Amino acid sequence: MFTVGIIGRPNVGKSTLFNRIAGRRIAIVDDMPGVTRDRIEYIAEWQGKKFKILDTCGYDLREDLLKKEMLKQFYASLDESDFFIFLVDGKEGVHPLDEIVCNILREKEKPFILAVNKIDNEKSEANVLEFYALGVDEIIPISATHGKNIDELLDKIAENV
Ligand code: GDP
Ligand code: MG
Repeated sequence: MFTVGIIGRPNVGKSTLFNRIAGRRIAIVDDMPGVTRDRIEYIAEWQGKKFKILDTCGYDLREDLLKKEMLKQFYASLDESDFFIFLVDGKEGVHPLDEIVCNILREKEKPFILAVNKIDNEKSEANVLEFYALGVDEIIPISATHGKNIDELLDKIAENV
């Protein structure tokens, strides 16, 4: 089945987004990075398309994961997904690890959509612009906790299935 991995740094809101899409609380959301212990998946249906969404700690990029051996594992986990939701934190701005993840996705020629999370209100919308520095054509601003723009994100995924 077409598989969609949610990828991004710890604490950007991957599990919150996963739960929002699943419509219930399956993944553990926590303020402490690295809380998603097990691989969690959900079969989503949208616009008549079916796809599997993954939230796993394997996609959490901690500093130590950038060490050679761990990076290898990260690469291997990348192969599981056909498409990625590359999630970044609109409150924190562009992080050096975001650039690394972006470069890996390009290098591996993995299709992805960049979603800037934690855009909870109009005031925070300006935070989205700096992420164009990552060199993407399109960005979807979302708020996983407020459920903002999730439909647009799912539309984008369904287009690619
Ligand atoms: P993960 O480590 O990437 O899986 O991140 P989590 O889903 O566990 O969320 C980390 C923290 O960010 C939690 O405190 C969430 O409540 C918070 N968070 C997630 N999405 C949003 C959002 O859209 N807006 C705001 N303000 N906080 C969010
Ligand atoms: Mg998580």
